[in-house]
Amino acid sequence: MSFKSLGLSEPILRAISKKGYEEPSPIQAKAIPPILEGKDVLASAQTGTGKTAGFTLPLLHYLSENPKEKFRPIRALILTPTRELAAQVHANVKDYSEFLNIRSTVIFGGVNQKPQVATIRRGVDILIATPGRLLDLESQGALSLKRVEVLILDEADRMLDMGFLRDIERIMKLMPKKRQNLMFSATFSKDIKKLAYSILNNPVQVEATPENTAVEVINQTVYRVAKAKKTDLIIKLIAEGNWKQVLVFTRTKHGANRLTKKMISAGITAAAIHGNKSQGARTKALDGFKKGRIRVLVATDIAARGLDIPLLPHVINFELPNISEDYVHRIGRTGRAGASGEAISLVSADETTFLRDIEKLIDQKIEIKILEGFEPDPNASTEPIKQGQGGRRNSNPRGKSKSKNSGQRRRRRNN
Ligand code: AMP
Repeated sequence: MSFKSLGLSEPILRAISKKGYEEPSPIQAKAIPPILEGKDVLASAQTGTGKTAGFTLPLLHYLSENPKEKFRPIRALILTPTRELAAQVHANVKDYSEFLNIRSTVIFGGVNQKPQVATIRRGVDILIATPGRLLDLESQGALSLKRVEVLILDEADRMLDMGFLRDIERIMKLMPKKRQNLMFSATFSKDIKKLAYSILNNPVQVEATPENTAVEVINQTVYRVAKAKKTDLIIKLIAEGNWKQVLVFTRTKHGANRLTKKMISAGITAAAIHGNKSQGARTKALDGFKKGRIRVLVATDIAARGLDIPLLPHVINFELPNISEDYVHRIGRTGRAGASGEAISLVSADETTFLRDIEKLIDQKIEIKILEGFEPDPNASTEPIKQGQGGRRNSNPRGKSKSKNSGQRRRRRNN
């Protein structure tokens, strides 16, 4: 199948070919036709599938083929859970609209709102926003959503995880009832389905799993280790392996900061990325990591979600996530695009239950290694870490993978 056969206009095809895309990805092939027909779409797709172009290309086609007033009211709203994702989506929108008379901008918290307001005042067709800043600016009268024709919820599951349900409900009330709605989500919990029913109108459902991120193709290893030895072990692995681009996951923001400092002291360039970092610091860290100036990026799950970092050779879980699905999301960042990837987890005694849950979810035993000098502590308790000691928790840490969807959702905006 070609992009042309999907019926996209010439300026859009030109932008696509400038990006070097040869054919639509599966999610694009499935989602673009119904979106072009003006239907509501519920799409199951995560980062890496090409989902952003999947909704952006037909959106641009519609807006440019149906031009409206010169003063440019906001005609399309793309909501994303994180600032990073918002910035990435905006970069994509700009690339794909290079040859069109379409204006777009992005707004998110943590940065000065003045330039954002000024850009909106000049008129934009497409607004990409995180919920908090959007509501802020709307309540100040800096923008209106009364002319929105297309609403896109990107990574809807993460938005719910981060406690944005109320905000989303408030935003819905600010838009006209008659509009096209597109919802993209990696997972489909009960809550997501409920949200979909409340927003989408008779939606067409499409689905695609990312290529090359299948758990089976990733080389997974667990190092059993005493908790107190984890930092030394991770530094040894990275230094001796001479690994260059390593994404490390920690459970908490403080844990990320602590580990980053230790790495830097050991002579490994590292940066932390999480919700407490300023937007500038996050952008700088990500940029440095992508360009190879920073060897190790230490991230919490939420900060890492949605980051478009292709071809990561190494992912390390400094701590196992207590939500098994997060393990799959984390390690899915390696082994992309056919490159071999390695996912390593440092597991102390108190994470034994998490490891068992993960193995159950992926239906696979992970190879276990123990390095001399870094043996697990034989006296350590195998009880899972107690509430409050880590970051976000399952309501039922012993629960199966389902527990993510059934438990009370905690507010995770701060992670
Ligand atoms: P996304 O899932 O939207 O974050 O996209 C993942 C990556 O795939 C991005 O770097 C896109 O630039 C790239 N991409 C999107 N569509 C295509 C395509 N049809 N062919 C090749 N690469 C693509």
